[in-house]
Amino acid sequence: MEQIPMVDLKSQYLKIKDEVDAAIQEVLDSTAFVRGESVSRFQRHFEEYLGIKHVVPVGNGTDALQIALMALGLRPGDEVITPTFTFIATAEVVALLGLTPVVVDVDPHTFCMTAEAVEKAITPKTKAVVPVHLFGQNAEMEAILKLAEKHHLFVVEDACQSIGSEYHFSDGIVKKSGCMGHIGCTSFFPSKNLGCFGDGGALFTDDDELAAAARSIANHGMTVRYHHDRVGVNSRLDSIQAAVLDVKLKHLDEYVANRRAAAAFYDAALSDMPQITIPRKSTRSTHSYHQYTIQVPEEKRNALQNFLRENGIPSMIYYPIPLHLQKAYADARYKEGDFPVAERLSKVVLSLPMHSELKEDVLSFMTDKIRTFFSVG
Ligand SMILES: *Cc1c(COP(=O)(O)O)cnc(C)c1O
Repeated sequence: MEQIPMVDLKSQYLKIKDEVDAAIQEVLDSTAFVRGESVSRFQRHFEEYLGIKHVVPVGNGTDALQIALMALGLRPGDEVITPTFTFIATAEVVALLGLTPVVVDVDPHTFCMTAEAVEKAITPKTKAVVPVHLFGQNAEMEAILKLAEKHHLFVVEDACQSIGSEYHFSDGIVKKSGCMGHIGCTSFFPSKNLGCFGDGGALFTDDDELAAAARSIANHGMTVRYHHDRVGVNSRLDSIQAAVLDVKLKHLDEYVANRRAAAAFYDAALSDMPQITIPRKSTRSTHSYHQYTIQVPEEKRNALQNFLRENGIPSMIYYPIPLHLQKAYADARYKEGDFPVAERLSKVVLSLPMHSELKEDVLSFMTDKIRTFFSVG
């Protein structure tokens, strides 16, 4: 078996090469590398896909989160609740803006923050909650939104890993990931569910004023040219990335369906193994499987990863250190032991290769090796 990739962008590209190459060539011919026609076209198509009023394309997912918090007018000292088990960007932007990150524990099966933990963390200074729809599955948004309404909190969804999934509310309403709170944020980093060929991101909202504020902040705080009404940043999606995304958006649902099929294969092949906990599906959320993350006993995890590596199978530990134990985020308020679920997850999780191009022979090779490890080990 050849070296198996964690993410196979090459095969995915080759299938749409003609279309993507033509779209890029069109931008090259136009030389409108910034604010070109492809950006507004992709924006419109992404608004239609999400069923949302405004998409604001920006430079990357981290910028989307930062601009979202700036657009809400949060001030230094305001508390923002985030899960402690996530990618660092979620809390990084909170810290950069001089806001106070307040971290909470997560659910041991969905890996997402729980409403119960959020409720306990709310203080009079709390202004916003940032649920992260980790690995592609939505956090328990119905309960989180209810809490937010009761306590007058803004909800900014970190949907960087969950584009293509949906959430079913108890009244029958179905919403796309990132479209439930005040602002949703996503990343178009190449390996994300909808990835471009470099960096890219977007935030989205149904609120006209928040959209206008975000658009202005992303463009140096400008509304009328060279009139700067607020302090902003420079963050834009370039025309080449938008052209690529506009082509790939048409295939997004198919990419997600392929990820689900691969996950179903892993599930079927691994579910009878007592040493492995396969990812549990939430009853309310569909899953876009940005990652397929199993849990294995702590004393076996690294040995399994090494065994797989020796057999040409990559795997990743997302994430090895929760936020509250990161050096840069050390805080007298937190110590080891405060968030037992996240701390345990960081020692037992292992993400297996997951992408839109996984074939059954590769899946069965990988799952056979995992079975072998546990039957021998
Ligand atoms: C990828 C990611 C981000 C940041 O996106 P970039 O485009 O890399 O800046 C933020 N949050 C989560 C959960 C992510 O997975």
